[in-house]
Amino acid sequence: MTESRPETSRPDTSHPEAVRSEGLRPETRVVHVPQPAVEGSRPIAMPIYQTSGFAFDDPAVMADAMGRSDGPFVYGRYTNPTVRSLEQAVAGLEGGAAAIATGSGMGAINTVLLGLLKPGDHLIAQTSLYGGTAAMINDLVGRFGIAVTYVPENDPAALRAAARPETRLVYLETISNPMTLVADLPGMCAAARELGIVSVVDNTFATGLLCRPIEHGADIVVHSTTKYLSGHTDVVGGIAVFASAELHEKVWHFAIELGASADPFAAWLSLRGMQTLALRMERHCSNARHLAGRLAAHPAVSAVHWPGLPSHPSHELAGKLLSGFGGVLSFDLAGGRPAGEKFMSSVRLALLAPSLGGVETLVLHPATTSHRSLSADELARNGIGEGTVRVAVGIEHPEDLWADLSGALA
Ligand SMILES: *Cc1c(COP(=O)(O)O)cnc(C)c1O
Repeated sequence: MTESRPETSRPDTSHPEAVRSEGLRPETRVVHVPQPAVEGSRPIAMPIYQTSGFAFDDPAVMADAMGRSDGPFVYGRYTNPTVRSLEQAVAGLEGGAAAIATGSGMGAINTVLLGLLKPGDHLIAQTSLYGGTAAMINDLVGRFGIAVTYVPENDPAALRAAARPETRLVYLETISNPMTLVADLPGMCAAARELGIVSVVDNTFATGLLCRPIEHGADIVVHSTTKYLSGHTDVVGGIAVFASAELHEKVWHFAIELGASADPFAAWLSLRGMQTLALRMERHCSNARHLAGRLAAHPAVSAVHWPGLPSHPSHELAGKLLSGFGGVLSFDLAGGRPAGEKFMSSVRLALLAPSLGGVETLVLHPATTSHRSLSADELARNGIGEGTVRVAVGIEHPEDLWADLSGALA
């Protein structure tokens, strides 16, 4: 290394254009890069703040910021401007006070479960649960000394009967997977509130566009933003939205210990996807309606599960609670498992894949994939048959989708 002149002034990185390079050696100048100030205009799209930390001018401000969820930005695990933008966007959509964005939907669910439960506590959950959540609750019971009671998603009396003095949480899903049962959010959340129990609702399938659980009494809403909120099958993420700032603050302190925080680029992809959520949901719902009607009339199909159909057990409730019936449907093939397997290998346009909520139509066979860890009893309890097929309906032209599905049924 060549000898350079010694440093004569400290770079003032607090004012981006004031970084003085005179007096600094080249090795130092390449480290302290200029950050042009954005003044007199502002970016239209939220920028990606791809920085792990933030520098302070005032040590007292820094000390204060470390312990607060609403203070200046400190460190990427706490939050970040791009991540905060997503948190505010989803909290705004859901009508919540504040949110915590996470690296996955399971990250959001576990931030809430582990942040609020302790050994000896009791949890009430609805019978039909997303597979990852069901597995996590089994772990909480097996390894963390937490008790669980399962109740139907639409039975406030069963919830009241299951409640104990040590019951801390009620866990619900707006629309269940894959049978698309709709939870009685007003009844269940009101019962939880009367008993002083915090209610948590997974709103992934509905999104804040079709249903806002906080308006129906929920305390916390969780999402896999991987699905409809992001919408383009290019990012994994999650978020927990809190009805009250107090509950948010309490869980936030745990969240920064757990470290399931969202990455700025992932948050940015979700924000970008969310801008077209309303248009996409409209098409997901209308395509699902189109396919549900056609499938119900097909001789190879013995039942179609989509809450927009009058035959669905949640139809009436869904009409009151949802402003659209969603883009996920499932159906039972009269030919059982062989017919299910044949169908899976016959679709051409629809992709055989897990997940949902993206622009592409995806199909899967729950009994051998998403719900493979369930016993035959549990499958039956959830209404999932050997010939059940789930369709996460995309935004393609409905006639192309029907041509593909009907071709695979033939
Ligand atoms: C996908 C999903 C999750 C889990 O989200 P990840 O982003 O995969 O961790 C939780 N709940 C529901 C309803 C989901 O569909």
